[in-house]
Amino acid sequence: MNPLLRAKNEILDLLFPPICAGCGKEGEFFCNLCKKTLIQVPPKCFACGKLSPGTKRIPQGRTCTSCRAHTPIYAFISPFLYRQEPVRELIHNLKYLRVYGISRVLAKLLINYLSRFKIRFPKNSILVPLPLHSRRERTRGFNQSRLIAESLAESSDIQIYNNVLIRTENTRPQIELRAEERRANIIGAFAAIFPEKIRDKTVILLDDVKTTGSTLEEAAHVLKSAGAKKIWAITIAH
Ligand SMILES: [Zn+2]
Ligand SMILES: [Zn+2]
Repeated sequence: MNPLLRAKNEILDLLFPPICAGCGKEGEFFCNLCKKTLIQVPPKCFACGKLSPGTKRIPQGRTCTSCRAHTPIYAFISPFLYRQEPVRELIHNLKYLRVYGISRVLAKLLINYLSRFKIRFPKNSILVPLPLHSRRERTRGFNQSRLIAESLAESSDIQIYNNVLIRTENTRPQIELRAEERRANIIGAFAAIFPEKIRDKTVILLDDVKTTGSTLEEAAHVLKSAGAKKIWAITIAH
């Protein structure tokens, strides 16, 4: 977030104290009681949804061997189901009500999940938030995935790269489309710039929600063609 916007939000937070996205109680963006109602789902294969083994038989979200031919995503981390009420509220309040402080709550939930399943980002990995088209980012004023990624980078030692992937097409929102139309809608929507920054790196792509996965796969495909070694996908919910 740019410093001016950040300052503005800090002032807004002072004037309007946070209220819990789950129960409406004043004081926090998401209270401890509501946190306890969240149900984490174990990491699973991006393509088929089966629990996928990692080291010591803990599921760690790696794409199963038989699915690797069908997706450019190597591992998938996504702690929650989108249909869970407080999760949907959190994402909705960040995106549409512009409650920016929620990005820190979501980043913490991700960190907690990573440590619970003993998932470590590989050496040489970089965090890349899924970009919005510049026109849409201007209308909305911010990119929610970038806010979450910035909060995640602040509290872990991964580096964030905001400028290696751009959205060249302002596509129709995937949510308006049927599953089979989504793939066609998104092809050619991304471009990798500064390929030297991603060469031989593991790119951790971050988006708020995975639905069919076409958007993440298209971005992954573009990054791999530009020289990235492996692509992980992280979303808050799916
Ligand atoms: Zn609450
Ligand atoms: Zn699979």
